[in-house]
Amino acid sequence: MSNIIIKNIPWIKFIPVTAILFAVLVVAACTKKDNEIKGLAYDPPGSTITTDKEITLQTKKTYNFNNTGLHVSNEFEGARLNDFYQVNDSVYTALISPENAPINNSGWYAFKIWADKQQDITLNLSYDEGTHRYIPKISNDGIEWTAFDTTLIEIDTSEKFASLKLSVDQDTLWFSAQELITSSVYERWEDGIAGLPYVDKKIIGVSSEGKSINELIISESANSNDYLIIIGRQHPPEVTGFFALKSFVETITGSSEIAGEFRNRFNVVVIPLVNPDGVDNGHWRHNIHGVDLNRDWVNFNQPEPKAVKDELSKIVSTGGNIIFYIDFHSTQKDVFYILSLESTIDENYTESDNRKAEENYSLMKEWLTNLQNKLPDYNVHIIDTLSKKTSPTFDRWIQKTFNAPAVTYEVGDETNRELIKKVAECAAEELMKLLNDRQHN
Ligand SMILES: [Zn+2]
Repeated sequence: MSNIIIKNIPWIKFIPVTAILFAVLVVAACTKKDNEIKGLAYDPPGSTITTDKEITLQTKKTYNFNNTGLHVSNEFEGARLNDFYQVNDSVYTALISPENAPINNSGWYAFKIWADKQQDITLNLSYDEGTHRYIPKISNDGIEWTAFDTTLIEIDTSEKFASLKLSVDQDTLWFSAQELITSSVYERWEDGIAGLPYVDKKIIGVSSEGKSINELIISESANSNDYLIIIGRQHPPEVTGFFALKSFVETITGSSEIAGEFRNRFNVVVIPLVNPDGVDNGHWRHNIHGVDLNRDWVNFNQPEPKAVKDELSKIVSTGGNIIFYIDFHSTQKDVFYILSLESTIDENYTESDNRKAEENYSLMKEWLTNLQNKLPDYNVHIIDTLSKKTSPTFDRWIQKTFNAPAVTYEVGDETNRELIKKVAECAAEELMKLLNDRQHN
């Protein structure tokens, strides 16, 4: 019987082919596993999937309560308020939800509140898919802000609910998770910097909603091909990261001798706002397609990282040499993340590539050591194990693609604003000094 089968269906002939096919599949599966994109330890599920996701847009409106004469609005750039309702004559609840979920816990909110006549109210902040993270910032004009007194905020044990007392009257009170720094604020700041004779501003791409992604090019150097790259605000609520970026860039464009020498030797490319749609829509983390942009640096499914990639690739393909990168972010406290040495060298790389990786690492360390020496009362907190080789983050893409030092400069949500400015100023000075000296040698 079996003989007949062998005779009629000569499957034995296919054994070598089948075996080879099987071996290929096994190898492919293993290779795929090694190259599998891995997010960071704290990422919610699915964050490394960067194809478009469905998001829920907030309804833009003004809520009017005729019985008390109270009004609340989210009809402005950067606002977030998903619902607002009255509990009784003096108690109101603001519902705050993210653009989509799962999502990192960065519950952004921003709204305006006023009343026909002065009244004291209790305002509840109720979070969906997250907990209370940001100390409210309040303002009378949307420009000058102060932090709300934390001793007057009650947070329940689940931290999904915070309650505070507010006095409201006819003057509009701006109430926001952080200072409002939206795309129009960036435009004004960029235009100011671009007024300097050695700064140019250009558009390198557009977001999904058609907002421009801008670049500042700082250079007084006629013949240098060396570039420092600075980017920021991939994540919408990370306003303190912008404060550091702003101070850092203004130190480079400033009038000090070190800065002048630096601009004569190096070019600086700044892309201050990578996620304008997320910022202007008051998102917690993602762009308008519900994607974490700092997890899209492998697949480039979203237009914003792709615009940055294309621009940097163009600089390199036209002879540019990228010597240092800084990506500004915010988190609970100030941290400088650098890629660990063991994750940037590899036995499969050439000896000179590995030597370069070692030099990159020591350059980052030397910069941050110098910064610590400059600021003895401040703790320069360095973490060098942030991401894996397979991480789809900007810093890892930079390191893999251009073998250059890549630093993620994280600023605490509530770090004193003057301190942010001072540390970033010193950080820029120390980096310029170090790179100026290196080029002398
Ligand atoms: Zn971030």
